[in-house]
Amino acid sequence: MFGVFKGLGVTIRQLPKKKVTLMYPEVKPVWPERYRGIHEFIPELCIVCNQCARICPTDCISLSGTRDENKKLRIDTYDINFEICILCDLCTEVCPTESIRMTDQFELASYTRDSLYKDMKWLYQNHIEHGSYQALQAAKTEEEANAAREAQAANAEAASGSGQKASPEEANAARMPADETVSSSGKGGQPE
Ligand code: SF4
Ligand code: SF4
Repeated sequence: MFGVFKGLGVTIRQLPKKKVTLMYPEVKPVWPERYRGIHEFIPELCIVCNQCARICPTDCISLSGTRDENKKLRIDTYDINFEICILCDLCTEVCPTESIRMTDQFELASYTRDSLYKDMKWLYQNHIEHGSYQALQAAKTEEEANAAREAQAANAEAASGSGQKASPEEANAARMPADETVSSSGKGGQPE
């Protein structure tokens, strides 16, 4: 009998305390500053310097680019194999243009290994849907965080309504035919 009251006492003492659980997935957590979530990629900013692929400790980045008529390198393909990415943040640290950045996206659960291989289009879509991460990080109150989340959701909705999903290709569409190709292929290429 004493055990029952003892257990009840523990339960009652917890009732007024702040809740630590969330109604996920309806309510998403606010991650701490510098949280290292799944990458976003902005093709327009990439200068195809190859530094991200070179520093990656698991060789999971593959990229290729070509020079345009102004001799500027433009990215053609950019893939990350999240089967072996350890979200170490090194690629984003070395990127001189911040075209590759971490976000607050953490949902990578999948039924197939192939679907963990993300291409430029997917990474760009992640930018559209999670690009407000910086605003979310800067939010001081829950209201500010909610406003950032709403802006993010509106962004994603506008993007899907306006066909922005194809934007990486569109961004490169104006390029002249390639006269030079740069590429880097990580050992962790697309799974068979
Ligand atoms: S975060 Fe992933 S892709 Fe970037 S360097 Fe680390 S392992 Fe490579
Ligand atoms: S993402 Fe950044 S580091 Fe990687 S090739 Fe592009 S500009 Fe260079």
